[in-house]
Amino acid sequence: MSNAVDETRLEHSSSGKRVDTKRRELLKTVTIAAGLMLASGSVTVARGESRRSRRGKRFAMVIDVDKCYGCYACVVACANENNVPVGVFRTWIERYVKPDGTVVFVPKQCNHCENPSCVDVCPVNATYVNEDGIVLINDELCIGCGACIQNCPYGARFFNPIKGVADKCTFCSHRIYQGLLPACVEACPTGARIFGSLEDEESEVSRILRTTKTEQLKKWTGNDPQIFYKSLPGEANT
Ligand code: SF4
Ligand code: SF4
Repeated sequence: MSNAVDETRLEHSSSGKRVDTKRRELLKTVTIAAGLMLASGSVTVARGESRRSRRGKRFAMVIDVDKCYGCYACVVACANENNVPVGVFRTWIERYVKPDGTVVFVPKQCNHCENPSCVDVCPVNATYVNEDGIVLINDELCIGCGACIQNCPYGARFFNPIKGVADKCTFCSHRIYQGLLPACVEACPTGARIFGSLEDEESEVSRILRTTKTEQLKKWTGNDPQIFYKSLPGEANT
C-alpha cells in the first residue's frame, strides 16, 4: 500500500509586522531548556480546561473527502488571504492511493482541538483558545521558541520566517467575525468544506454531525479535534 503527499508552492506578500528581537532572544534562551524537556517527555504538562465547558460558538468544520478532487483552490485562497510565505502552509492537501488504485485527496490544517496539546506548552501564554473555541496565537507575545510546533500531533504549526513567530490556521477569524466564511470554505468549488457553529443546533455542521458518520484525526491523542471528516480513508489517519 502506498501513499504520497502533494504540496503546492505559493506566492506571498510580507505582513511587515515589527519583531522585538532582543526580547524574543532573551525569552527564547530562558525557555529553551524547558522546551527541550517538554519535547523529550521529561516534563508532564497538564491539559487546560476543556472548551466543552466554555460558552461561545464552538466553531467547527466538516470536510467531505468524497467531494475533494485536489484542485488546491482552498490552499491558494488561504495563502492569499493570510499572506502565507512560500514553502509553508496553513492548509494543505494530502494525496493517497488506495490498494485498488483509487486516488483520494484529504485537506488538512489546524484542527482547533478541544484539548490542544500546543497551548499548555507555550512558556509565554502566546497561544490560547478563544471564547468561541478557535486556537489562536498572539504575535505580540510569541517568542518563536517552537514548543507548540513540536507538540502539535498534526504538524499543523510552522515557523513564519517573515513574522518571526509560530503560525497556523486561524479559521480566518478576521473574516468570520465579519460574517464571512473562511477563505478555504468560500473557495472550494464542490462544497467539500463546511464551516459553522456547533452551539447552533440548526447549523449545517451540527446537522451533519447528528446524521452522518464522521471521524476526527488521531483521536487517541486526546486532543479532540474540531475538524470532522466524512469518508476519511484509513491511510489518512495514521
Ligand atoms: Fe513558543 Fe509557540 Fe508559544 Fe510562540 S506560540 S512562544 S513558538 S510555544
Ligand atoms: Fe494545536 Fe495542533 Fe490541535 Fe491546532 S491541531 S489546536 S496546532 S494541537
